[in-house]
Amino acid sequence: MTTTDIDTLIAQHPLVADLIALKETSWFNPDFTSLQEGLPHVGLGQQDIADAHARLLRFAPYLAQAFDDTAASGGIIESPLVAIPAMQRVLELRGGQPIDGALWLKKDSHLPISGSIKARGGIYEVLTHAEKLAREAGLLDEGDDYAQLLSPEFQAFFGQYRIAVGSTGNLGLSIGIMSARLGFHVTVHMSADARAWKKAKLRAHGVTVVEYEDDYGVAVEQGRRAAEGDPRCFFIDDENSRTLFLGYAAAGERVKAQLQAQGIAVDREHPLFVYLPCGVGGGPGGVAFGLKMALGDHVHCFFAEPTHSPCMLLGIATGLHDAISVQELGIDNQTAADGLAVGRASGFVGRAMQRLIDGCYTLSDQAMYDMLGWLSQAEDIQLEPSALAGMAGPQRICASAAYQQLHGLTPPRMRHATHLVWATGGGMVPPDEMAQYLAKGRQ
Ligand SMILES: *Cc1c(COP(=O)(O)O)cnc(C)c1O
Repeated sequence: MTTTDIDTLIAQHPLVADLIALKETSWFNPDFTSLQEGLPHVGLGQQDIADAHARLLRFAPYLAQAFDDTAASGGIIESPLVAIPAMQRVLELRGGQPIDGALWLKKDSHLPISGSIKARGGIYEVLTHAEKLAREAGLLDEGDDYAQLLSPEFQAFFGQYRIAVGSTGNLGLSIGIMSARLGFHVTVHMSADARAWKKAKLRAHGVTVVEYEDDYGVAVEQGRRAAEGDPRCFFIDDENSRTLFLGYAAAGERVKAQLQAQGIAVDREHPLFVYLPCGVGGGPGGVAFGLKMALGDHVHCFFAEPTHSPCMLLGIATGLHDAISVQELGIDNQTAADGLAVGRASGFVGRAMQRLIDGCYTLSDQAMYDMLGWLSQAEDIQLEPSALAGMAGPQRICASAAYQQLHGLTPPRMRHATHLVWATGGGMVPPDEMAQYLAKGRQ
């Protein structure tokens, strides 16, 4: 982009100037619609989500035996929902902004198998592919006990195939660990910002790790190219995969049941606000889609991004989606938030969700480190920096009279609100790494 192009863009969308200046920015979607109006633009529906649930149920007996940490839940990969009232008080005290309603945390950070939100989409995509191969070969029927996938015969069958993926870390962990366990040969193409311990963990699981000195977009491109010439290689495309998106969307019904079990209502008088850290968009997009489908129009979803990587905010607010990257505006895409260092958003997710998300905001890396420390002290919960991106959301919403007015959120309604911060990763961070994160937070 030339400076004239950038000036024109800023004239049309003044908030682009704030993004370039790396200011913490909130954007509330002026074009939001009801689920009914927005749904046709997604191109996926209730039946697709039902299929995902059914597939995950078919694989549950296999997963329960293949991974010890899923045995207790019978092979269902799910995370707890917990109230964090002490953290709510700390945020109010530090930020000087009350949070109306109650603050909750969704601990995808502690999902089995790979300790991040990618244990939803990534694993689901690998399972879908494995099932397709086995069924096409006549080795498996939907009614079979999938625990047979543990057998040496199936290991040998999947050993004839390859899986490849480009990743900043957590997607690689999920896809790598799951694929290797099934018997696939798996290669993870990793960007420069990926943590050393994630690469080491993958190699310990028998995964081939290829490292690049470039960012996520380059790692994905290289991975795609390496896979192209090989008909037995399946490349998992994080940017455009409907399958991955549906794996995330399955969270909707599960969260609905968890809220009911806690006696939390979601309706006009009891709005639910959900804050989702966003990288390329598949995770937050899929979860938001699933939540809207399960809970309807009174769930409000917000995407949270680092000030240095605001790709989804930029894409949706300007309507340019994947036709623009943050780098073209001179924004460096450098952030400590693993999984969020993405310069160009998924065009599929941006277009699918542009009417169904309620807003996007950015926050600084320092804000994530600060909240990481406060959460550890207040609730004894340890997360990786990216997983704190959602924690800034409740105060942005509670501070915005304009947002509340736009959505008819009069004061009694806000007092009955539930704020759900989606903690996307951190459960497997080694203690010495965690100590370094904690040292970066300001008291
Ligand atoms: C991948 C990831 C996200 C965001 O998911 P996208 O699908 O890339 O938007 C958020 N938090 C963590 C910890 C992640 O690994």
